[in-house]
Amino acid sequence: MTLIAALQNIVGKGNVLTDDDVCARAVSWFDHRPMTALAIVRPANTEQVSAVVKCCAQAQVSLVPMGGLTGFVEGAVTTAQQIGLSLERMTRIESMDVEDACVVVEAGVPLQTLHEFAEEHQLHYPVDLGARGSCTLGGMAATNAGGNEVLRFGMTREQILGLEVVLADGRVLSNLRPLLKNNTGYDLKQLFIGSEGTLGVITRLALRLRPLHNSLSTALVAVNDFTSVATLLRTLEQQLGGRLSAFEVMWREHFNFIVADGAKHKAPLATDYEFYVLVQTANFNSAEEVIFMDVMEQGLTTGIIADAAVASSLAQQKALWAIRDDIERLTTGLAPYLGYDVSLPIKHMDSYIRNLQAAIKQRWPDAIVIVFGHLGDGNLHLFIHIGPQLSASDKADINQRVYQPLADIEGSISAEHGIGFQKKSYLTCSRSKDEIQVMRDLKRVLDPLNILNPGAIFDA
Ligand code: FAD
Repeated sequence: MTLIAALQNIVGKGNVLTDDDVCARAVSWFDHRPMTALAIVRPANTEQVSAVVKCCAQAQVSLVPMGGLTGFVEGAVTTAQQIGLSLERMTRIESMDVEDACVVVEAGVPLQTLHEFAEEHQLHYPVDLGARGSCTLGGMAATNAGGNEVLRFGMTREQILGLEVVLADGRVLSNLRPLLKNNTGYDLKQLFIGSEGTLGVITRLALRLRPLHNSLSTALVAVNDFTSVATLLRTLEQQLGGRLSAFEVMWREHFNFIVADGAKHKAPLATDYEFYVLVQTANFNSAEEVIFMDVMEQGLTTGIIADAAVASSLAQQKALWAIRDDIERLTTGLAPYLGYDVSLPIKHMDSYIRNLQAAIKQRWPDAIVIVFGHLGDGNLHLFIHIGPQLSASDKADINQRVYQPLADIEGSISAEHGIGFQKKSYLTCSRSKDEIQVMRDLKRVLDPLNILNPGAIFDA
């Protein structure tokens, strides 16, 4: 029996897409070229995932797990010889325990679905990002996604109480206990979080939820210099007593580039400040809303804040977030571009960005360097556009200018998007030889035939 026929036996004929049905799909959210794959297989449950993996292992055909295909680092891209294993049919929210504030979901559930479901139960899933309608909880675990509330609640890793994973030989490793504390030997789930589909296929997750706030206080504030941005962060953290949930900074070029599309966004503040900071707290009572307003007023009085637009309705909150979240404007308006998501200590950020901008503009005087990010988490996103052409040697040159200085200031080439295929040749900027060797050793133990997303992160 051929591999395709065997896969059809497991998941049903209609759930093994080949030829034109594969080409009808785009490679990813960013890359709209037609997908290439031997087949896209769409299992309905863990048993089918396990059988598919076993079948591919026997045929020695490699598999690439696929979620919502919103990842930034080309981590879910298949070749014509590979099987795409899409979790798109595994979208059940299986159980909810309100008392223990825990939910068990299948890996293909989109983030937004969980947000809405949790809110119906007066609970909150505290990871949020711009791709919320498409990215899946399995993909987010596989990339340890960050997003907009990391400052207060941590990354995806911090929300995962338990995982079910199908290993490369088809075994199902399952521990979905809703426990915050469980020191019984190695915490195996941590191996799979952030492993980008290279060690196992995540099929189910037990996730921690938090109490749902009563209201959000949101403001966009303008700041004149980086020292004031850093002071503002420290002041807000102190005065808001741990309630600060977002501190998103946009450098002037970024803010101006987004609001220049006046049809989509109205500029809530003048466009000539150096920095714009989107600040948000989640409040449980009206006294906390008052504290937020007091802190804003104090910032204006002391001059740390040059100007502020405080949202007074849900619609205004959404309009402020739409400016920060408009990634599409960047990906379409700056094409061809190179995108980065670096992390570094806040004390080095200003000089790192100034030096980088100078280095890029010296080589390409008309270049556009857009900087923004989750500054409270030490995480900056960069979009660099040097003109209508972007050659392979330009890419290597820009990568070098972005990544090399990070090694000397204890930075990382990826704060939250991962390595995938896009950044693997620069992994040594952030990881020692020994660390990479231990990663290889783990890969060989868990996937000796190298059939799960081979070549992503590093070559086995
Ligand atoms: P995919 O893109 O399908 O896959 C990503 C990786 O995970 C691949 O290596 C794939 O093989 C693997 N994978 C997928 N599902 C599984 C599974 N079930 N088991 C094992 N491996 C699997 N990311 C952030 O961290 N923070 C942000 O703020 C952020 N903002 C974004 C905004 C926009 C507009 C967009 C388009 C993307 C953004 N991202 C952000 C990136 C992206 O949304 C995240 O990386 C997300 O976690 C990817 O989820 P996905 O389901 O789309 O995974």
